[in-house]
Amino acid sequence: MSMSATKKVLVISGLAGLAMLPHLWPNPYYVHLMVVIGIYAILLLGLDFVVGYVGEVSLGHAALFGVGAYTAGVLNFQLGAPFVLTVPAAIAVSAVFGLILALPALRVNGPYLAMVTLAFGTIVQILINEMTFLTNGPMGITMDKPSFFGHRLNSGEYYYIVMALLVLTIVVVHRILKSYLGRAFEALRDSPVASDCMAVSVYRYKVYAFVISAALAGLAGSLFVYSEEYISPDTYSFHLTIQFLLALIMGGRKTRSGPILGAIIIVMLPNVLADIGLFRQIALGLAAFAVVYSAYGLARKRLSPRQVAIPLAFTVGLSVFSHRISDITDYRLTIFGLLILFVVYYLPDGIMGFLRSLVQQVRPQWVRRHEWILDKGDAEHVWAPPDHAVTVKGNLLEARGLVMQFGGLRALDMVDLHVAKGSVHGLIGPNGSGKSTMMNVLTGIYRPTAGEIEFNGKIISACTPSDIAGEGIARTFQNVQLFGELTAIENVLVGLHHTYRSSLLDLMLHTRRSRREEHEARMRAASLLKFVGLAELANEEAKNLPYGKQRLLEIARALALNPSLLLLDEPAAGLTAPDIKELVGMIQKIRGHGITVILIEHHMDVVMGISDTVSVLDFGQKIAEGKPAEVQSDQKVIEAYLGGGAEQQPA
Ligand code: ADP
Ligand code: MG
Repeated sequence: MSMSATKKVLVISGLAGLAMLPHLWPNPYYVHLMVVIGIYAILLLGLDFVVGYVGEVSLGHAALFGVGAYTAGVLNFQLGAPFVLTVPAAIAVSAVFGLILALPALRVNGPYLAMVTLAFGTIVQILINEMTFLTNGPMGITMDKPSFFGHRLNSGEYYYIVMALLVLTIVVVHRILKSYLGRAFEALRDSPVASDCMAVSVYRYKVYAFVISAALAGLAGSLFVYSEEYISPDTYSFHLTIQFLLALIMGGRKTRSGPILGAIIIVMLPNVLADIGLFRQIALGLAAFAVVYSAYGLARKRLSPRQVAIPLAFTVGLSVFSHRISDITDYRLTIFGLLILFVVYYLPDGIMGFLRSLVQQVRPQWVRRHEWILDKGDAEHVWAPPDHAVTVKGNLLEARGLVMQFGGLRALDMVDLHVAKGSVHGLIGPNGSGKSTMMNVLTGIYRPTAGEIEFNGKIISACTPSDIAGEGIARTFQNVQLFGELTAIENVLVGLHHTYRSSLLDLMLHTRRSRREEHEARMRAASLLKFVGLAELANEEAKNLPYGKQRLLEIARALALNPSLLLLDEPAAGLTAPDIKELVGMIQKIRGHGITVILIEHHMDVVMGISDTVSVLDFGQKIAEGKPAEVQSDQKVIEAYLGGGAEQQPA
């Protein structure tokens, strides 16, 4: 059975199971629990954008959930607004709150989002309590299940509403995360600096992710009031926020199944920990699994005795313990805490992550990342010449009086650089002379202490890295900065981010336009991979590529930006001699496409062979400039190299 057929069967049986559940198990208490699971799962699918994808921590999701609940509750209570209005309103209001929180908090790196959302949680609770005229204060609001055309839904019917919205949420979230937006979220987490330099603004897409997340919290909150038929301020406490985070971490990040499993765990665990009989059975099941898994792992030499000792002792101990106690109530919190510690230590990717790794051992093809099958024709496509119209005559780039001060060190000291349009401009100098610093200043990663950079007639020295990339400057990095968990082709697709025009709605509805755009981008990505000789490795994760190939992939990704200026920081480092020869050919072809190149390189034969002009840096100062032959015979240059390390003579 093919993978997609297996998936279809799973999806259809899952949907049928969801539809049948209330009939198979018609206990109203359990139907209510399942509704709560569905609602929490919607929230957790949203929380995963923030925690799993962009790697931030939110301590305010219970409050956003509360904002959604109160928006729906107050509109219904004060104005009698119907379900079809209160739910969209809750989504919108929570999204706006999300935007207001994220805009300032994500501007800087560090734990600001966590702190701001923590404060937000406290404020929301106080406001709900105090604004009695609107929210009925601590008394809370009582309301009914939604009605449609005069018919009030009962709990069983409401179950179907929630499950339908959960399925819809899964589909929409999945589409977003598999699109160029999802790739941007993953990329900025893997390498923020490279994302910015690919014109994918880290700030902007983190805010984007947080707003989507807040909107889903609002949806979940509004569904929750109708489920409980009552809201009061103390439901939306810090305690609930922590539960949400734990649920996501235990279930597993960056999957759709993880949040659902997480929701099941936090809703069912209090029940499991209330019933000693059930707890004993589950503890025994866990212990049995641990024993079998450890034995298998030891026999296959996949696990060492040290690795299995503690998990085995823990699970077997838990099972023994469950039989020694007669009443569980006193131990509930302790057991809960131990389970969390266990998951965090031994299952860092959560339970779903662990199950995936199990499946990977048996059936690797089931868990491979979305694969792109290259048609023969795809890679024949020629990549387009630069988009960014070069309007200046003469020099494409002019840097004047650049100074970069790090504490007491002047890494760049009054450097001027004039890069002629269409040329290959070599930049050489001993280690630590300021070459990479120059690249970082040119691409906006460092703001120069003094001086000015003019690119294509525009002053760019005060712009952000993503804006500079948008102007048409692309780069590679001396210490490779790939998006390690993305495949090779996906790395290039992040470089092609600027070619996408689809709106969020296009992505959610999977419109023709969005599919066409994705297809075209993939064709271009394939041809770029072919250009650097990596077409065969398109579906390999970048972190698994050999070092030399990683450098080539960075060049393909940079070209995807359709730059008019390409900065290469030691592209030949780590390449074998034949690969270096190919690289030289590649750079010549790149120039042939009308792209200007600045080349930092230690292999002197490479720089001297293809550069039109060479500038030499030493201790942050430009000590020579001219045609390769002139520079090579310059006395100051020879001295700089002899002083800095004889192995790098420019001869
Ligand atoms: P090169 O690329 O020519 O080998 P770099 O530009 O990497 O040299 O470094 C130039 C000097 O600036 C070095 O002395 C380095 O230690 C220093 N430097 C570079 N980046 C920083 C930074 N972020 N903070 C402090 N010092 C730095
Ligand atoms: Mg360097």
